Amino acid sequence: MNYLGIDIGGTNVAYGIVNSNNEIVYSNSFKTSEFPNAKTCSKAIFDDLNENASQLKIQAIGIGAPSVNFFSQSIENAPNLDWEDDIIPLKDIFEEQFEISTKIINDANAAAIGEHIYGGAKDLETFAMVTLGTGVGIGLVINGEVYHGANGTGGEFGHICIDRVNGRECGCGNYGCLETYIGRDGILKTARQKIEFGGVTQLNKIIPSELSAKDIFKFARKEDPVAVDIVAQITKDLGYAISIITNSLDINNIFLFGGIAKEGNFIKKRTLKDLKPYLTAALRDNINLQISELINENPAILGAAYMVKI
Ligand SMILES: [Zn+2]
Repeated sequence: MNYLGIDIGGTNVAYGIVNSNNEIVYSNSFKTSEFPNAKTCSKAIFDDLNENASQLKIQAIGIGAPSVNFFSQSIENAPNLDWEDDIIPLKDIFEEQFEISTKIINDANAAAIGEHIYGGAKDLETFAMVTLGTGVGIGLVINGEVYHGANGTGGEFGHICIDRVNGRECGCGNYGCLETYIGRDGILKTARQKIEFGGVTQLNKIIPSELSAKDIFKFARKEDPVAVDIVAQITKDLGYAISIITNSLDINNIFLFGGIAKEGNFIKKRTLKDLKPYLTAALRDNINLQISELINENPAILGAAYMVKI
């Protein structure tokens, strides 16, 4: 039996057919910006599978997506998704296209399920999966259960306010959200400000429109002072935001996943150092911050597919 797992992100739509041994037997991806709406996205995936993987019969579809309301099975007011409608009945759209039972879940929760079943959280009943990408999210597994929240919209970690005074405007309508500092665009905004005012740096040799977080970390490793300063700002903000979750919920296992988490120990060590001063005494000595064991795979595809398997 096969299951289709789809990870809809602000930048890419990635998907894979997962077999009963939990192996991805076919995968592909598109740029999210290729599609004006969810309908054209579902049609493109359908056509691709028809053409290239029609021998793999699919039993059910699981989708991880941003700004999901788990209860209504819709995407609601997604700041990082440039699709036409504010309310997108994603489950219905895919079921209409594929005529296969479909379930949708917040992308960070899908990634958390992936980590729980296949990755470093196998033996953990309670942990947090922080996803760092275009947006910033958190998947919480508490006492073995994914936490969806009172309205079905849990996981919006990127919209914790970390600057109440001079906060940047966020796509969600609020100001000072974590995502406006450590989401993809937020990092680049910080970088542009610091490159302009921060003195001598190799980063200004890169064409501004081509600058990426990867470049910033590359030069930070070479101790370029401005790049070091940008990374320090990221890990301070991330560390502080994580402490809000760990201290409130007494969670001591946290996994980092997504673009900048690929920097491995380099980001982990710095985030941990910046997180520790904010921790409660109980957590300070047994906090366990790790990079996702599925960092080079796609836990959201695996997690979304697993969700519909059970
Ligand atoms: Zn926000």
